Amino acid sequence: MSNPSLLILAGDGIGPEVMAQVQRIIGWYGDKRGLNFDVSEDLVGGAAYDAHGTPLHDDTMAKAQAVDAVLLGAVGGPKYDDLDFSVKPERGLLRLRKEMDLFANLRPAQCFDALSEFSSLKTELVSGLDIMIVRELTSGVYFGEPRGIFEEGNQRVGINTQRYTEAEIERGARAAFELAMKRDKRLCSMEKANVMESGILWREVVTEVSKDYPEVALSHMYADNGAMQLVRAPKQFDVIYTDNLFGDILSDCAAMLTGSLGMLPSASLGAPMENGRPKALYEPVHGSAPDITGQCKANPSACILSFAMALRYSFDQGAEADRLEAAVEKVLADGVRTADLMQANDGTPVSTTEMGDAILAALDASL
Ligand code: NAD
Repeated sequence: MSNPSLLILAGDGIGPEVMAQVQRIIGWYGDKRGLNFDVSEDLVGGAAYDAHGTPLHDDTMAKAQAVDAVLLGAVGGPKYDDLDFSVKPERGLLRLRKEMDLFANLRPAQCFDALSEFSSLKTELVSGLDIMIVRELTSGVYFGEPRGIFEEGNQRVGINTQRYTEAEIERGARAAFELAMKRDKRLCSMEKANVMESGILWREVVTEVSKDYPEVALSHMYADNGAMQLVRAPKQFDVIYTDNLFGDILSDCAAMLTGSLGMLPSASLGAPMENGRPKALYEPVHGSAPDITGQCKANPSACILSFAMALRYSFDQGAEADRLEAAVEKVLADGVRTADLMQANDGTPVSTTEMGDAILAALDASL
């Protein structure tokens, strides 16, 4: 049996800095757990534009399609702000998502106890928080036709179209139910069935799919109420399934419940490949952070936790994913903090590399 394959696209800004720590973690799994990956590296975003004049070379796209999972750092930066829209660094990421048909975006919002004071909500509302938002990523109002700005009489009109097929709703719903089965077996579907036909269809299809998952308790909520409930009593949720637009907003809202951008991982999954593994791209939620690039200040945790998601969702290594998440939690509980996780008078922050050292030490201690 050959090793599972990973394509690393570190990208721009702090992307390569945080990815260097992930590489050390991958090395640890090979040395200490006999879990070896065939790792290849390539360029994406501004780095790819500098080398090839495009934010994603066709060869890189082909490699991404061929591997078991892609791990991405971050793209973008001020240097590329004035580029034509078609070659902006973000286009590389969008092309990966589109051509790999990554329809289910998984955004966990987990509050580590040691960081509960960083949440904008009261500690008791967020401590122990562990929710998963599944956002449909490849359809809905960001893609629907007709779209554009048109002349209508003596004024212009801006049009976007919310459009969902039953199949699109269903495949995302199945991904969400499968996740719920591995968690607390509760799924809340969010739409606006009160005012949108696409919401009515959404509710019908999700209800139909639920018949295949009798163990999962399904509830429905209007997305505006969902936003309110997320900041009122977020722990009532386990898995939330929602569309592209609502998911965009609700997942950012949920992210802030947990404190720092430097802690937030994500996964985008597509259909199963021949080997049964889903097409998959794992990346931290944060961007390239040009304000701290090159200073070894970035928190590598979001990228490391994205690799933990890869262990769980691509490589069926749930126990090893738990081990890595526990190592990050232990380091935080011990008070080891990068600058983004510090408040005034908190002492001296550790560097990106020192955070990596501490997580590796916690992994060693877990053996
Ligand atoms: P950002 O996420 O890069 O940074 C926002 C703030 O959070 C900054 O102050 C930054 O220093 C801090 N931060 C982010 N990640 C951190 C980490 N790991 N450790 C410590 N601090 C961290 O968002 P932005 O400033 O709006 O965007 C910067 C660039 O990144 C832009 O070019 C934007 O287009 C791009 N971007 C890329 C992605 C992506 O690659 N998926 C996502 C968002 C933004």
